[in-house]
Amino acid sequence: MKPLITIVFFVIFSSVKAQHTHLAMDSLSFPDIPGYSTLITDLHQHSVFSDGSVWPDIRVMEALREGVDVISLTEHLEYQPHAADIPHPDRNRSYDLALAEAKDHDLMIIHGSEITRNAPIGHSNAVFITDANELLAEEATTSFSNAKKQGAFVFWNHPAWYWQQPQGNPVLSDFQKARITAGELHGIEVINTTDYSEEALALALENDLTIMGTSDIHGLISWDYEDQGKHRPVTLVFAEARTPEALKSALFEGRTVAVYNELFVGKAEYLIPLLQASISIISSQYIENTQILRVELHNASSSDLLLENAMEYNFYSSSPVFTIPAGGTYTLQIKTLEEMDSVTLKLRALGAYTAPRIHPEISWEITPE
Ligand SMILES: [Zn+2]
Ligand SMILES: [Zn+2]
Repeated sequence: MKPLITIVFFVIFSSVKAQHTHLAMDSLSFPDIPGYSTLITDLHQHSVFSDGSVWPDIRVMEALREGVDVISLTEHLEYQPHAADIPHPDRNRSYDLALAEAKDHDLMIIHGSEITRNAPIGHSNAVFITDANELLAEEATTSFSNAKKQGAFVFWNHPAWYWQQPQGNPVLSDFQKARITAGELHGIEVINTTDYSEEALALALENDLTIMGTSDIHGLISWDYEDQGKHRPVTLVFAEARTPEALKSALFEGRTVAVYNELFVGKAEYLIPLLQASISIISSQYIENTQILRVELHNASSSDLLLENAMEYNFYSSSPVFTIPAGGTYTLQIKTLEEMDSVTLKLRALGAYTAPRIHPEISWEITPE
């Protein structure tokens, strides 16, 4: 939570070009997990350099306002509806402008582009590229092989998009299977804008693809998300350091969790430590002359956490399903039937998925005070 003064400053100076920092709302925040730094990324965005409606500097400011650590402006290489007004034969222009804007800020800009084809090839983002112009090719296979030559991390975008998949279900095409085999396709969006695709999660797990969540923003983040009281979808990446190199390695190794507000999607090995690190036990003590243990929990993340009792003991005066609000606390009253020296608190995270319809369980050993 940032002080109100920041908001006031932003309102006053937002029309002044020189002023381009400042968190203006409750920002995104997630704890590190053991061994890794947690980077908040949104690696799929558009500007006027393809079919978006804003100049690249707005994307930088939006990320700074919301507490995003890493962005990529992934302009459609082949779809350029503003080309008559904004001709730019150099397809790296959007990246260059964003990079210049972010120069004095704690924001990583990753060079990327969207390879844009009809189904069954579909749309894919190549990030960590070195030259977008070389990805513009007649044959899609050339675009992918040139991305690989540049060392890019490539992921399949909006695989469930009903314009390309009328049933709203992603189908892995022969083209994509061949790209996976060739080491040219490494990830898949399981969350794109507001759409979570369980089938995309299944494909990610079956094909060992990195789980991604992105905004694919074309208009304004504030209009599409903030005005609805929401944050944009992001990919949390668990990197060995807060550097582009470590981020890239982590993406190739699949160390991610996709998050859209209270929805978390990721492999158990990263999702469970993330939830565990997000929740801390502030206090635990028996109510005097009872066998009811009061346990106060704190949620350090910017997402509401929806949880369910997974213990043998029942709660006193509470539904087995409860929410610890983002940045807030919740007190459980556990009927342990006798006074215990130690209790295993076990909760099922109902907003989180490690596979389609599968929720992770998290547990703590509690020693009452
Ligand atoms: Zn697309
Ligand atoms: Zn896009």
